[in-house]
Amino acid sequence: MNLSDPIIELKGVGDELAGKLAILRIRTIDDLIEDFPRRYEDYSTITSAKNLRPGPVTIKAKISSVVGRYVRRGMHITEAIASDDTASVRLVWFNQPYRAAAIRAGQDYFVAGEYRLSRQRFSILNPSVELVSDFPINTARIIPVYRETKGLKSNQIRRLIREALNIVKELPEHLPAWLIKDQKLLAYKEAIGEIHFPSSLDLWEQAKRRLAFEEIFQLTLAALLNRQEVLAEKGLAIPFNEKLAKDFVLKLPFKLTNAQRKVVWAIYQDMAKNQPMNRLVEGDVGSGKTVVAAMAALTAMEQGFQVAFMAPTEILARQHAETLLNLLGNVGYGDQVGLLLGSLTPAQKKTAHQKIADGTIRLIIGTHALISEKVDMHKLGLIIIDEQHRFGVGQRKKLQAKAGHMPHVLHMTATPIPRSLALTLYGELDISVLDEMPPGRQKIKTKLVSPNSKKTLYKQIDKELAAGRQMFVVCPVITETGASRGLSAEETFKQLSEHEFKHRKVGLLHGRLKPAEKERVMQDFIDRQYDILVSTTVIEVGVDVPNATVMLIVGAERFGLAQIHQLRGRVGRGAHQSYCFLMLSDSKAPIQRLRALENTTDGFRLAELDLELRGPGAIYGSIQHGALDLRIANLSDMKLIAAARAAAQNFIDKKEDIDNYPHLVSRVTALRAVTNLN
Ligand code: ADP
Ligand code: MG
Repeated sequence: MNLSDPIIELKGVGDELAGKLAILRIRTIDDLIEDFPRRYEDYSTITSAKNLRPGPVTIKAKISSVVGRYVRRGMHITEAIASDDTASVRLVWFNQPYRAAAIRAGQDYFVAGEYRLSRQRFSILNPSVELVSDFPINTARIIPVYRETKGLKSNQIRRLIREALNIVKELPEHLPAWLIKDQKLLAYKEAIGEIHFPSSLDLWEQAKRRLAFEEIFQLTLAALLNRQEVLAEKGLAIPFNEKLAKDFVLKLPFKLTNAQRKVVWAIYQDMAKNQPMNRLVEGDVGSGKTVVAAMAALTAMEQGFQVAFMAPTEILARQHAETLLNLLGNVGYGDQVGLLLGSLTPAQKKTAHQKIADGTIRLIIGTHALISEKVDMHKLGLIIIDEQHRFGVGQRKKLQAKAGHMPHVLHMTATPIPRSLALTLYGELDISVLDEMPPGRQKIKTKLVSPNSKKTLYKQIDKELAAGRQMFVVCPVITETGASRGLSAEETFKQLSEHEFKHRKVGLLHGRLKPAEKERVMQDFIDRQYDILVSTTVIEVGVDVPNATVMLIVGAERFGLAQIHQLRGRVGRGAHQSYCFLMLSDSKAPIQRLRALENTTDGFRLAELDLELRGPGAIYGSIQHGALDLRIANLSDMKLIAAARAAAQNFIDKKEDIDNYPHLVSRVTALRAVTNLN
C-alpha cells in the first residue's frame, strides 16, 4: 500500500466513515497520518485506585457490576465498579448505553478519565477503557486529540491512525540518508509514530523538529529548483549605458537615495548577465520604486529592447504611464512610452498595437492583459511587475514564447517580506530592499480611537473635509453579517452618507463591483467627485491621491499590522499633514498589538510582529498562498529555516536525483507551482 492510496483502502474504513473523513479533508492515507493532533492529554501515569486525586487519571483495573439505566427525559447512565489491588472506584458514563455490553468481566483494563466529585461521590466520569496491551491508544499514555466532526470522534481517528502506522512502517524513508545523519533527524516512520502517540516529551519534540524540517526543506527545495530552472535559461545580456544613466539622474528633481542607487546597481548587474534576472524590489510605500523601474526600463530601451510594465489596475497603469513619460521624457525617450489598456477605443488600440509591433513604442504600460492579449512584443527584453504576487514561471513562459527568449523580470512590492519568508516562500527570487525613505517625508499621525469618541473624531475629520481634503474609510467586510455589526462597507456607507456626513459626497467601492465600475469610482474619487470613499481593502495597492489626508480604518482589530500599514500609505502623499485613525469595533477590543502602529512606521518591523503574533496568513492572507498551509513548521523559526535551506542547497549541489525520492518529488512538484508565485 501507498500513502497516496484513498483512505477507503485502509482496514476498517467503509463508505460511511470515508464520507466523514472527507469532511475533515482526509481523502488519502497520507492526509490521515498528516492530520496531526491539535493537542494532547496526558494519561501516561498509572495510579493505584487508592491514590486517586481529582483530575485526569489512569488506573489498571478489573471492571464489575456494570449497570445501565435510563433516568429522566431520555438521559442514560451507565455505572460500574473498577477495582485494582488497592481499592475500588465508581465509573460513570452519561448517554453511552453501549458501554455495558462492551465490557468483559474478569479482564484487565486501562481506565482513563476525569476523576471528580459527581453527586456527592468521587467517580471517574466518562472514562475511556481498553484492554491492557503494550500499545494502548485511548488510555495509559499521552493521548492525541484530533479535529473532530459530527459522528467522528478522536478515539475513532486514533484507531485509524494506529492502523495506518502499520503501513508507514513498511515505507522507505522520505529524505536522503546523509541528510538524516547531518541534521540528526528522527526517521520518518518514527517521527510520525511519535507525533501521534508520543512515548515521551523528548521524542515528541524530536518528532516535531523532524517533520517541521522536512516541510521547510520541501518548500525551500521547490524554490531553489524554480530558481535553478530560470537561471538555466539563456537570457539577454543588456549592458547599461553609464552616460545615459548619469544624465537621467542629473535631470531628476531630487537626489537618489543610497538605497535606490544600490538597488539600481544590482539590477544593472543582473541585466548585463546572459541569465534572466528574477529580482524582487521591496520598499515601503513612497520609498521610490518607480524611479528604480524607470532606470531599468531605460537601460533596455536604449539597447533597442522593449519593456512591458504591468500594473494591477488600469488606474495605476495610467498613473505610472504619466510618471514614466515625465521621467523618460527628460532624457528624450518620452515618445517611446505607450499605454495599452482594455478601455482604449479600437482605433487607439490599433495604433498602439502597430507602434508596438514596429518597435516605435518600447515601453508598454498596461495591466496583466498585456500577457494574454495578442501583442506583438518580439523585442521584449524586460518585464516589470508592480504590486502583484501572481506572476510566475507559467506567465514568464508565455512571454518567453511570445518574444522567442526569456526576458528579464523585475517585481516590485510594498509588502514587507520578513527574512524567513524571503528564504522560503520567495526563495526563488533575488531580493533587494529599498530600506531608506527619501528625505523630508511627512509623518502620518496615527491614533487608536474607541467607538465612544466617534463624535469628536468625526468633528475633527469634517474640518479636514471642509478645507477641501478627502478621506478613505476602510472596512473589514463588504456586507453585514451577524459577526460584523456595523463594520461592513455597505452599512458604513449608508450610515455616513445618510447621517454623520450627509452634507458630504460619499462613494462606495468594494470587490464585488465589476472591474470597470471599480475603476470609475476610484477615478471619480481622484477627480474629487467624492469627499469620502468607503471601501474594503481593494484600495490597498498603489493608487495615488495626494489630496486624501485621512485614512479611517473601521474595526481595526480585524486587520493585520502590515495590512494597516499599507493602507496608511494611501495618505500622506501630498503636501498636507495626514492622519490614520484606527477605530476599534468595541471599547473592549484588544489594542496592545495595534499600539505598534502608533509608534512605528517601519513596515518590516510590523510585518515581523504580524508573523510572530498571527502567522503569515495575516500578512499574505489575501494572496491565498497555498504554501502557507504548513502543518507543523513555524515560518518564524529562522534557525530551522536556515538549516533547511542550506540542506536544500546541499541536495542540489550534490546533484541528487530527486526522482529517487518519490514522496519528495510529489510534494516538491506541488510546491513549485506555489512558490513560483503562479
Ligand atoms: P513607491 O515606492 O511607493 O512606488 P514612488 O516611486 O511612487 O514610491 O515614489 C513616491 C514619491 O517619491 C514620488 O513622488 C517620487 O517622485 C518621489 N521620490 C522618489 N525617489 C525620491 C528621492 N530619492 N528623493 C525625493 N523624492 C523621491
Ligand atoms: Mg509604486
